[in-house]
Amino acid sequence: MVTPELFRRFPTPAAMAKATLPQLEDLIRTTGFFRNKAKSIQGAAKKTTTAFGGKVPQTLAELITVPGAARKTANVVLGVSFGKAEGIVVDTHVFRIARRLSLAKSDTAPKVEQELMRVIPQDRWIAFSHQLIHHGRQVCIARKPKCDRCNLEQLCHSKDKTWHS
Ligand code: SF4
Repeated sequence: MVTPELFRRFPTPAAMAKATLPQLEDLIRTTGFFRNKAKSIQGAAKKTTTAFGGKVPQTLAELITVPGAARKTANVVLGVSFGKAEGIVVDTHVFRIARRLSLAKSDTAPKVEQELMRVIPQDRWIAFSHQLIHHGRQVCIARKPKCDRCNLEQLCHSKDKTWHS
């Protein structure tokens, strides 16, 4: 909702790099954590302009040097914008469901990502995260998963299950 006006005012990384923090904060104030986000936006615009010729880089190694972008965001940008699968997006939903389905056992997102990269074929990595995030929002929700409507119920042995067939 905030990006149309943000991009109208600052249409290129070079233009955005010149924006002041108060200008950016005003444009994204409704999103929450807007002060930190404004710093990241300004830092990302500067880095993209100075280090990458004004273009968003297309490798994980480069993307994680951009302020505000760690591995999860870098994987989202690579997968969604460029169709490149260098890793698997592990957000809160992917982390929870991968463990519920015994696809991973680790207790940190980076380790869960490494486990998933070993068991999920690489040509499924981009879709896999979207599918788990959708499943996590609609069915396998954090507090009380809707196991009676879950297509994966017979494959799932999670202690969090609320229903067994
Ligand atoms: S059976 Fe329940 S806990 Fe297991 S994946 Fe489905 S919704 Fe999640």
